[in-house]
Amino acid sequence: MKSETRVAVIGGGVVGASVLYHLTKAGWKDVLLIERAELTSGSTWHAAGGMHTVNGDPNVAKLQQYTIELYKEIEQISGQSCGVHITGGLMLAGTRERLDWLKMAKARGRYLGMDLEIISVDEAARLFPLLDKKHFKGAMYDPIEGHVDPYGVTHAYAKSAQLGGAEIVRHTRVTDLKARSDGSWDVITDHGNVHAEYVVNAAGLWAREVGRMVGIELPILAMEHQYLITGDMPELKGKKEQLHCIDFEGELYTRQERGGMLLGTYEKAGVPWSPTQTPWDFGQDLLANDLERIAPSLEVAFQHFPALADAGIRKVVNGPFTFAPDGNPLVGPVKGLKNFWVACGVMAGFSQGGGVGLALSRWLIDGDPGADIWGMDVARYGDWTTLAYTNAKVRENYSRRFSIRFPNEELVAARPLRTTPIYERLQAANAVFGDYCGLEHSLWFAPDSQSAKDEFSFHRSNDFPHIAAECDAVKNSVGLLEISNYGKFEVKGPGAADWLSHVMSNRVPGVGRIALTPMLNERGKLIGDFTMCRIADEHFLLIGTYAAERYYLRWFERQLSCPGVSIRPCAMEYVGLSIAGPNSRALLQELVRDDLSTAAFPFLSFKRMEIGRVPGYIGRVSFTGELGFEIWVTTDYQRALYDLLVGAGRKYDLRPFGGRALNCMRVEKSFGTWAREYRPIYGPFEAGLGRFVDFKKDEFIGRAAAMEEKETRAGGTLRLLTFKLDTKDADALGDEPIWHDGKVVGWVTSGAFGHRVNHSLALGYVPAAAAGATSGFEVEIIGERHHAQPLSEAAYDAKGSRMRT
Ligand SMILES: Cc1cc2nc3c(=O)[nH]c(=O)nc-3n(C[C@H](O)[C@H](O)[C@H](O)COP(=O)(O)OP(=O)(O)OC[C@H]3O[C@@H](n4cnc5c(N)ncnc54)[C@H](O)[C@@H]3O)c2cc1C
Repeated sequence: MKSETRVAVIGGGVVGASVLYHLTKAGWKDVLLIERAELTSGSTWHAAGGMHTVNGDPNVAKLQQYTIELYKEIEQISGQSCGVHITGGLMLAGTRERLDWLKMAKARGRYLGMDLEIISVDEAARLFPLLDKKHFKGAMYDPIEGHVDPYGVTHAYAKSAQLGGAEIVRHTRVTDLKARSDGSWDVITDHGNVHAEYVVNAAGLWAREVGRMVGIELPILAMEHQYLITGDMPELKGKKEQLHCIDFEGELYTRQERGGMLLGTYEKAGVPWSPTQTPWDFGQDLLANDLERIAPSLEVAFQHFPALADAGIRKVVNGPFTFAPDGNPLVGPVKGLKNFWVACGVMAGFSQGGGVGLALSRWLIDGDPGADIWGMDVARYGDWTTLAYTNAKVRENYSRRFSIRFPNEELVAARPLRTTPIYERLQAANAVFGDYCGLEHSLWFAPDSQSAKDEFSFHRSNDFPHIAAECDAVKNSVGLLEISNYGKFEVKGPGAADWLSHVMSNRVPGVGRIALTPMLNERGKLIGDFTMCRIADEHFLLIGTYAAERYYLRWFERQLSCPGVSIRPCAMEYVGLSIAGPNSRALLQELVRDDLSTAAFPFLSFKRMEIGRVPGYIGRVSFTGELGFEIWVTTDYQRALYDLLVGAGRKYDLRPFGGRALNCMRVEKSFGTWAREYRPIYGPFEAGLGRFVDFKKDEFIGRAAAMEEKETRAGGTLRLLTFKLDTKDADALGDEPIWHDGKVVGWVTSGAFGHRVNHSLALGYVPAAAAGATSGFEVEIIGERHHAQPLSEAAYDAKGSRMRT
């Protein structure tokens, strides 16, 4: 093994091999893969090798498409067969809801260029004769599905990487990692050490243990997973290879394996493997079979595919593989650890491994993953992902792998975990809670405790009239919303203003003022949006998306070259309440001595005040579009603040409202939000945030690219539009295709019913060339296309006079 390398990749499973290949493909040849045994000695060797393009996150789906297309390339370079069988695949719907779900998945696939088709049961039975039609209502057909040989794929990546200059050492275990002061790493192995500029943890089943070597606890857990292979079946003899098939009701997948069928399950009673410590002596081993555990799924399989019942079992495989709490990979540089990267938690290595390798190599080499990979970014998790939290969530995710998640369905595992001091008060007010980063927050309020639960549906549900009433209260009187679930950062020091001016694209506000600002990367793409509040000359509070706290901090760390600046995340130190509506000022004025009139405290003001006995910061901002105030207090004061506001609010009919009403109101105002309208694939002018980019400043990150977007590219290639939809009982949710003149041209980012304007609305991106059209648009919701009228301005109070009043 060499003693110096630019990148040391730990782990020679399919993911590590793909990372290695992509690094060499991008031109980095001085790269080394260290594998403790033979290649594939973790989860990879016993995988079923299935692959497909469909994924709930369209950005992950794109990377899956890339992975499948890559196999030809690595076969050609390496001469190693990947054993690719493209059979096509069926997803079977046993219920109406599942068929609706498939229609939504098909619609999503449209703007990704996927050729998915909803077919009848008869057609499904023609394609997959083993099924018994009476159990199904329809199916979705995907021509790009199939399976590969896990050994072949891994070795094809590895050989291609070696031909590109990479070195691979086997039978060498990394036992420790020591950071040097310059950010490089001493990689300690049982066969000598190597000094690496970068380390990539692709240790699969042991990625958690390798994380511990550098003091982090990665939120991943291995689950046992079983599949069986039947004996040879006469039904298959002399026939074309059977399709891949997912049967959601049976929580199982099946495909042909030689003369028999392979049948795998994601059973409800899933079992974690090595929940706290993965043994180092586990190699190309299998776990003991436990057919009893998967018996309920097998029973369904034998009813739905009767020929399987008589086929006998030739072989059972039970092996472990890892999951993150949401089932998506963990990829990227780790905040706080210079030059330490991860590519792990990849539960579908043969669909995702290529995309993970591509994104990581681009990110490492160019500083940008080249695609929107927020859904896989390791930074999406924070301190709440303790071992026990991860355990509960991964088990839930595994058991629900083939379950429908309704848009209004909140998952229940590991809850409640984090609560704010007013949690019981909100409970007593019949709040229905959601989980956001492990934190309970209110979604809507029911009239009594019995009705305080969601009826899951793709259509408008039981919360609809109550959300309408909440919006009505905010429009006509005053509503109270808890806003603790935002990320907050305190920026302090003599260099703070200059630093913020460099990192944010809007101008830094004066003391006592607020500026809304996008944050751009060097390519002029949106990597954040913040409310920047100036408390004092050298003291700021930044308010942004809580789920992106580590993502932001990782970026801030990279930009911290200015002297005299300190940044501190303080999300849970300041919790908040917001009041909004025409009576919000009168209510608050009863509790504070400061003058809250527009003359004294205009829109976008920010000031420390006393609210009764409670000290806090009050900002005059509005995400509802109504006159409104956000009040931030330290956690110990929140309950007192709540009681004060509720007490004073009685005479104004103060009504609590939740996140769902807020969503309706912000869509009515065409206000975007992070991870929906604002993502790193959009520029600020495309996203309608151009007015918050201050070109009068000489310099800020992304200035040149933003200028180019504005001037040379006439505002970029996309436009964020607001549409009024003709729908009856279901609203857009996000990710639906937008049609124009019979072609799919764009996608919805958010949708909601606008109760104040009494119609359904959606926000979404279309190409700039189509954005000027005033007719011909449709949005596809649950398989039906609905007329969509583009609006030239926000649906509600477009001039913004209500919030500035
Ligand atoms: C039964 C079963 C069926 C599956 N079916 C499918 C399927 O049909 N389709 C699909 O896409 N996926 C499937 N999977 C999942 C798939 O196996 C994983 O997604 C994939 O193998 C993950 O690869 P990896 O490279 O991340 O991890 P691993 O395969 O676990 O590789 C990690 C490697 O790192 C090495 N390593 C670890 N620590 C060190 C260290 N300290 N020093 C040196 N080397 C180290 C290990 O020896 C190992 O070789 C299945 C899994 C199982 C168990």
